[in-house]
This record gives sequence, C-alpha cells and structure tokens, in this order.
Amino acid sequence: MSDNTLVNPNLEFIDEVVGLGGDTLKKCFQCATCSVACPIAPEDSPFPRKEMIAASWGLKDRLVGSADIWLCHECGDCTTLCPRGAAPGDVLSAIRSYAIKEYAEPKVIADMVNDKSKLGILSAIPAAWFAFLAIITMFFGGAMEKLFSVFGLHWVHHTDAPIAHARFISTWLVDATFVPLAAAVVFLFFRSLKRMIGDMHENALAEGKTDKQDLDWKEYFKTILSVLPKIMKHKQFNECGENKARGTAHMMVLYGFIGCFIATLMAVFMLYIVGSAGPFSQLHPLKWFGNLGGILIVIGAALMIKERLSGDKKSAYKDWYLLTLVIVVGATGLLTEMIRLAGSTFGTYLIYYIHLIAVFHLFAYLPFSKMAHFVYRTAGMTYAEYAGRK
Ligand code: SF4
Ligand code: SF4
Repeated sequence: MSDNTLVNPNLEFIDEVVGLGGDTLKKCFQCATCSVACPIAPEDSPFPRKEMIAASWGLKDRLVGSADIWLCHECGDCTTLCPRGAAPGDVLSAIRSYAIKEYAEPKVIADMVNDKSKLGILSAIPAAWFAFLAIITMFFGGAMEKLFSVFGLHWVHHTDAPIAHARFISTWLVDATFVPLAAAVVFLFFRSLKRMIGDMHENALAEGKTDKQDLDWKEYFKTILSVLPKIMKHKQFNECGENKARGTAHMMVLYGFIGCFIATLMAVFMLYIVGSAGPFSQLHPLKWFGNLGGILIVIGAALMIKERLSGDKKSAYKDWYLLTLVIVVGATGLLTEMIRLAGSTFGTYLIYYIHLIAVFHLFAYLPFSKMAHFVYRTAGMTYAEYAGRK
C-alpha cells in the first residue's frame, strides 16, 4: 500500500459500499458525534467518523486494510445518535463485507457468493454432488464393498439400525468430501489473512497507529492468546448500549457451532478409533453436544432474524444469506435426527440431504461470505492489540 492510494478516489468502491448497505455514507457532515458515542473506539484516532469521510471519498485501500473496521461490533449506538440520519454502523459493516470480497480468492467465487442471482448455481453444485454420492451408496453397494474389502475395510460401517445416514450416503464419501474441503478453506484463509494483516500493519504505520516498524509474526500469534478470551466472552458486545441483546444471540450461535464441532470430533473418534458407527443413544455425550449445539444455533439465529426484521438496521443479501444458512444448518441437523427417531426413512434421508447441502455452503463458501467475519475480526482485534491500540 502506498501513499498515493490515500488520495485516489475509487468510485467503484463507493458504489459497492452503497450496494452492500452503506447507502447513508454521503449524509455525514463530520460532526464526530459517532466517534464520541462509540463505546469501543480507541481514544487515539477513534472511529467511525474518519471512516465515514474516507468511504465517501472512495479511499478504498485506507479502509479495507484497516484493523479498525474489524473492531466495530455493529451495535448501532453511533447510528442512533447521528444527527444526520447517517448509519455509520451499517457503513462499517458494508466496508467489512467489501474487505472480505477483496481478500478472498478466487475472486470469481467471492463475486458469486455475494450475488443472489448465483445462489441457484452455488446450491446446484452440492445438490448434484450429494445426489451422485447417494446413488453410489444405494445402488453400487455390492461393487464398493468388494473394492473396500481389498483394503480390509467395509463400505458401510457396521450398524444394526434400519435407518442410518450411512446407508443413504456412505460416511467414507461424506468424509472424503468435507476433509479436503476443510483443508482448502484453511489454505485460502491463510493466504488471505497473510495479505490482510500485512496491509493492516502498513496502514497502521502510515496513520501513526503503531510504533512497531516491522511486523513480528511470533509476537502477533502470541497476542491471539490474549484476544481469544475476549472473543469467547463477547466482551465488546457487552459494552454496547443499543442492541445489547444482539451479543447474547451472537454468543448462542458461536457456542452452538462449538458444540456441534465437538460432537463431530467425538463422532470421528467413535467411528475410526472405537469402531462404532452409531446411531448413538440420546444419553451419549456426543448427542448432548450435538443436540444442544443445534438448539443454540437455531434459537440464536432466530433471535438475530427477529432483530433484523424489527430494527432499523440495514440488511443486505449477505446478511440474509448467512442467517438463513445458519438456521437451515441447525434446524436440518436437529430435524434429521427427530425424523429418524420417528421412523421415517424417506423423511430422514431427505432432510439429511438438505443438511449436507447447507453444510457444504457453510464450509466451501466460508472464506467468501459474511461468515468469514469471525476469522477476519479475530485477526483485526489481534492486530489492534498487537499494535498497542487501546
Ligand atoms: S454522527 Fe453522523 S454526521 Fe456526525 S460524523 Fe458521525 S456519521 Fe457523520
Ligand atoms: S456500530 Fe457500535 S461499535 Fe460500531 S462504530 Fe458504531 S458505536 Fe462503534
């Protein structure tokens, strides 16, 4: 990033920010009420006033590479108090969405994920893939069993249950889909974050927000350890005046996903180490984590949807895509189990199929959707702490 990027207005950036929900940015007359009102902004060079002027001037590089945009938790305190009816909280949210697209690679997928007309194509990919896996599992079981026996393995992990997800789509095939996908997502995030943190550092140096000349990656990674407890407690949300309840809903979704992640790890352990394919009793700890996680996700996402429908907050496609996805993942995860317990084979497999498509969306499109904000925000908060922003 060079100084000349600070004086070259980028009109395409302004248009995109407006389209992503930041349409009030031109209303700002720089009174600075918002920067005073923000409970999170650092005393030295506070936001969001300076971000409002930078956005209206189209200073893209100064904004997308700034750690400050990730410190904002979209509480809306500034928006409520703005005398001009501008919504700095929404503008910052739009800039964050732009930054996610800017750092995500490949760009073509980032553009598709943020374009509602492409939702059909993005859904057709996993729909066709899992339909293909279901056909292999259900109609070519004999041939696959022979192939697997060459390696001393069983095609369908042993289970006595008449209705089991592995009978619809082999667990091997599900794992062979999601494990490489998860590895690709980690790789893509690694590349994007390396660029973004480098830009944050250059930006902080240019604006005098840090006196650390060289970016010390070792110290940066050590700083993550001191930031994680704040994230887990949602400390910043609790400092909000308006929309304080949003923190609770956000925390429910976060802990819900952590619960489901623990349940998944336990399922992998039971399957590949213990050799038990389930289905497991409702009293099994794996079920406690999975069920409780699913319930937290559904309730948390429902509260967020309610808040968006009842409040003044601007909601763009990126917001609805993420919220819908989260609630569908949680609800289908719970429903597929409930329908299995009720004894409906067709219903169980249909809902499981939808669940897999939704989980694919969550994984494969994670670095490109608003969901990526939890990774980028962690990186931004860590950089601010590392740089000494108080
Ligand atoms: S309070 Fe409103 S008008 Fe004043 S600086 Fe902030 S956004 Fe601009
Ligand atoms: S939305 Fe909240 S956290 Fe973000 S800038 Fe406004 S007051 Fe600060």
